[in-house]
Amino acid sequence: MDMKALFLILMFILGACFGSFLCCQARRIEYKNDKRKKKKLSKRSVCLECGYKLKWYDNVPIVSWLVLKGKCRKCHKKIGLGEILAEVLTGLAFLMIGTTLDMEWMSVRGTADFIITTVFLISVAFLAIYDGLYGKLPVIGLIVAIVIAVVKVITINIIVGVLDGFEPSLIYMPIASAAILGGIYLILYVTSKGKWVGDGDWLLGLAIGIALMEPWLALITLFIANVLACAVMAPVVKKTKNAKIYFGPFMVIGFVIAYTFSEFFFYALSGFYM
Ligand SMILES: [Zn+2]
Repeated sequence: MDMKALFLILMFILGACFGSFLCCQARRIEYKNDKRKKKKLSKRSVCLECGYKLKWYDNVPIVSWLVLKGKCRKCHKKIGLGEILAEVLTGLAFLMIGTTLDMEWMSVRGTADFIITTVFLISVAFLAIYDGLYGKLPVIGLIVAIVIAVVKVITINIIVGVLDGFEPSLIYMPIASAAILGGIYLILYVTSKGKWVGDGDWLLGLAIGIALMEPWLALITLFIANVLACAVMAPVVKKTKNAKIYFGPFMVIGFVIAYTFSEFFFYALSGFYM
């Protein structure tokens, strides 16, 4: 089989495994903070309803969920859509980031960019899953994402600096990008007094802005995130009054699309000015 196709399949499987693992971690953290729910925790994966200890074949990402039709093997209570969504979407996100790796012409910068972006993706996937499940963004996760994004900018600067000489735009473009994505959500948060967006959204925007390293991509991410959030959340908001929109998952989806298709967006945008 074609190496690239094999690589992309592996990326999808790896992503699905991470989705499953991160979903599990998010539930563990949430249950640890809740005294009543804490008792249900175990070292092994268990059904949160009946305590059934999951066997290895109940823990295969996506496959187990489909075989069991989203229900516990023992008590038949629904596992929930969160798990399968986390597994499929994280798998797809890994696959999409995987397409950006040029395997025929592996440059030092391109390979480093791909590796650190994948690590960054794991950190923001965790935040998206947590936000999707519980409607909040844990501070420690936000800090980790920001640190990884800064490490990416520093690494790219060192590589370009050594190979081609210092490039100042690789410093101020990430700053501008972070200011756009973080700044807009901070303004929304302050002006609405936390009604429209949560208090962690601007920090997630900041992290994604830094990792994108490009103001145009920050704007595209913002656009995609808001369009998706409105499309998905509008019916929910209509039903329940005062429903808050959780931007986290949509911002991360926007990031993956903007990063994956960055070359396409550059050609499309430069066309406007020709
Ligand atoms: Zn059960």
